[in-house]
Amino acid sequence: MYSEVLKSMDGGGQMEMHMIPHENPWENVLTQLRHTAEIMKLDPNITKIIEKPEKTVITNFPVKMDDGSVEMFEGYRVQHSNHRGPYKGGVRYSPTISLDEVKALAALMTFKTAVVNLPYGGAKGGVVCDPWKLSKSELMRVTRRFTYSLMGLIGPEIDIPAPDMNTNPEVMSWMLDTYSMMIGHTELGVVTGKPLEIGGSAGRVEATGRGVFIVMDEALKTRRKNKSDLKLAVQGFGNVASNFAKIAHESGYRIVAVADAFGGVYDSGGLDIPKLLTYASSHPKRSVEGFPDAETITNKELLELDVDVLAPCALENQITEKNADNVKASLIVEGANGPTTPDADEVLNEKGIMVIPDILANAGGVTVSYFEWVQGTQSLFWDEQEVNDRLKRIMSRSFEEVRASKDKYNVKDLRTAAMALAVEKIAKVIELRGIFP
Ligand code: GLU
Repeated sequence: MYSEVLKSMDGGGQMEMHMIPHENPWENVLTQLRHTAEIMKLDPNITKIIEKPEKTVITNFPVKMDDGSVEMFEGYRVQHSNHRGPYKGGVRYSPTISLDEVKALAALMTFKTAVVNLPYGGAKGGVVCDPWKLSKSELMRVTRRFTYSLMGLIGPEIDIPAPDMNTNPEVMSWMLDTYSMMIGHTELGVVTGKPLEIGGSAGRVEATGRGVFIVMDEALKTRRKNKSDLKLAVQGFGNVASNFAKIAHESGYRIVAVADAFGGVYDSGGLDIPKLLTYASSHPKRSVEGFPDAETITNKELLELDVDVLAPCALENQITEKNADNVKASLIVEGANGPTTPDADEVLNEKGIMVIPDILANAGGVTVSYFEWVQGTQSLFWDEQEVNDRLKRIMSRSFEEVRASKDKYNVKDLRTAAMALAVEKIAKVIELRGIFP
């Protein structure tokens, strides 16, 4: 089974198999966008443009399975906006993925790249499949055939895919190879999140978790408590969550709880994160379930724990109107895309809970993807320190800009502030470029 080798990047991995979101993520993004547009008094003509994804591709393709049978797979690529630069965004493999989910994630990419000011637009892709049930060679053929179906639509100046939930650097090498075979030469710039040996960037694997950490650390700077007195709870233990936990732990924060789809662990004195990482890496489902040196806790309990910081780093729709009122953390840092619904946002705002929104908090991944694309284009590679320093500068500056936008628009929450900052930049470009023809 490929599950043994598959360690997803920028997603919660196995989490999603058991926690199917119930709300429509596309409706949620539209609600957030319209709310922001109203506050900004945005020109309705601009809202009309941003509300629609520019291109939506649905592809059905056959793949020969190991037993000789043929299966049909459905794949999506939604290119939401390329006003500010090439479309950019990950590819997710999941049995429950829907077009509306991909549309939502594509739009979030547009806002995310604008918030951190990368010269990109936004896109997202996905294939309906259960990577945990496919063999490695089946998954490779799915990836190659999906990539083939996107020929003409992707490319270093057109649309640059990357890893997301249940896809990883190895999947990116297959995409790169397929694209390169089709055009007759190796093209490093067609995907990011590649293995280091074929043009990947130092620090890319940790980048999303590191970015989540940087903005959390910025937000906590003004608090008087010592790092080790602040209690953190982390939802998920995939790439984003585990790297966030690792970096936060190394920096001196106390992580009291971690929960994934299979189980959760709690220790009020602080979990031994290095030990937990070792434990999960040898667990058959890469889970924290059964970790001996802690109490057990459910996902529901984790979200409602009496902690200072809650970091949902798994998937959409985790904090909803059903549980928002029970959240006790004073700061939420969204490592996942869309973990909080608009209804929940209202409740959290009223309670005075600060939410660092996904489009800022998890932008570290795409930021280092951008570094990777720049390095590949120049064939000049940076060391990890340089990558991390540049990432820190961009994340910290963006956090300040989002705070300034909060004051400018006189809003209570950072999500509207970040959306307004992003929409301002996109609107300006649409205005400058004009409407073709
Ligand atoms: N999948 C990641 C995200 O949601 C990274 C996308 C990229 O690197 O292009 O931000």
